[in-house]
Amino acid sequence: MQVLDLTFTDYLSAKTIADRVAILGAQINEDFGDKNPLFLCILNGSFMFASDLYKHISTPSEISFVKLASYKGTTSTGTVVNMIGLDKDLFNRHVVIIEDIVDTGKTLFEFLPTIDHQQPASISICTLLQKPEALKHDVAVKYVGFAIPNKFVIGYGLDYNGYGRNLPEIYQVVK
Ligand code: 5GP
Repeated sequence: MQVLDLTFTDYLSAKTIADRVAILGAQINEDFGDKNPLFLCILNGSFMFASDLYKHISTPSEISFVKLASYKGTTSTGTVVNMIGLDKDLFNRHVVIIEDIVDTGKTLFEFLPTIDHQQPASISICTLLQKPEALKHDVAVKYVGFAIPNKFVIGYGLDYNGYGRNLPEIYQVVK
């Protein structure tokens, strides 16, 4: 399949994804019980995953959708990642971050202090995909849908220059 200048091949089918997402949902239900977790869907890439995952959450909970905006702080603070659109107070809440993919871990590494600052009861990360070979920052990801090789993927919310988010399956770039 061609998207702009890149060629992609089938990687994870819609059924494979759906089965795994159901298992992740069941695990989260079991782990959080009556803790009233607050899910934070990191837009844009996680919208499809979050939508499917949240349908499997059967414990009382809330979800909020945020975008991340990064800017250079002072040399001591490095890059600061701000959250846009948060409409919930995180204080004393069990926060579950829903990500599409953890690659180097840089985004989460820089973003977690912003959440920590609000003193949640706990922070857990749930990502659909993780590229273990690419990980450069020490971020503990509690729920991983699929550990995948270090190759560019699209579909199921993930894009290549804005395209491919609508695909129900995940495709891998052909090199
Ligand atoms: P990190 O900060 O962990 O290096 O990168 C995370 C972000 O990089 C993801 O949220 C995603 O936007 C982008 N990214 C990393 N790998 C891929 C990939 O294989 N496909 C797509 N579409 N985006 C990726």
